[in-house]
Amino acid sequence: MTRPRFNRVLLKLSGEVLMGPGQFGIDPDTVARVAGEIAAAKEAGHEICVVVGGGNIFRGLAAAAKGFERATADYMGMLATVMNALALQNALEQIGVDTRVQSAIPMASVCEPYIRRRAQRHLEKGRIVIFAAGVGSPFFTTDSGAALRAAEMNCDALFKGTSVDGVYDADPKKVASATRYETVAFSKVLSDDLKVMDASAIALCRDNDIPIVVFNIREQGNLAQVLRGEGVATIVQ
Ligand code: UDP
Repeated sequence: MTRPRFNRVLLKLSGEVLMGPGQFGIDPDTVARVAGEIAAAKEAGHEICVVVGGGNIFRGLAAAAKGFERATADYMGMLATVMNALALQNALEQIGVDTRVQSAIPMASVCEPYIRRRAQRHLEKGRIVIFAAGVGSPFFTTDSGAALRAAEMNCDALFKGTSVDGVYDADPKKVASATRYETVAFSKVLSDDLKVMDASAIALCRDNDIPIVVFNIREQGNLAQVLRGEGVATIVQ
């Protein structure tokens, strides 16, 4: 089955992706590989913006369970996403790709603040824009940040890079007979609580008609392939 070719996309990378084979933090080889994937996609003519997570460094909810005040913990989580964004920017610039980081929490000496029109302009000029700090408020996730920025930047699709090759009717790591959906409706993802992104992110994409393409980012060359409408993925639409 052929899928549409998407021109402007928002790529959501969870912090876990940048962790590589490790259990914590940033793996430079993995970040370099992901940067190479983004560069290849850009070379193929796509406009790409990225939202990075922070779960490889700090998760608000997990810290709150250990006694942190939730809002404070969430701010710490947002700061973790800024570190990931800088690591990815560094890797992209090392291979000659113009990249700007914009943070939802202004951090003037580190990166640009989030300014929608400015981000649009960067994309038009062929730069990669990395959005850090999610939506800038506690009690949200970077999934919601990804859906919000995808809508604001008029993206054709939200690409969710994960370690599985799509959305299954059961956990493929636990259930051998689990079947991958080629396409699946937003309503089914929500009603069956399929693990794609959190519910508020799914609802935002549904309400703004932004398909979510779930694919395996760990496989070399997969991002460019799926962007061409080939390869293995699931479209939530
Ligand atoms: N976070 C937040 N508001 C946002 C985005 C993120 O409070 O808009 C915090 C939250 O504590 C979260 C952490 O930042 O646990 C890291 O983000 P996330 O868990 O979404 O990262 P991922 O799972 O994608 O690595």
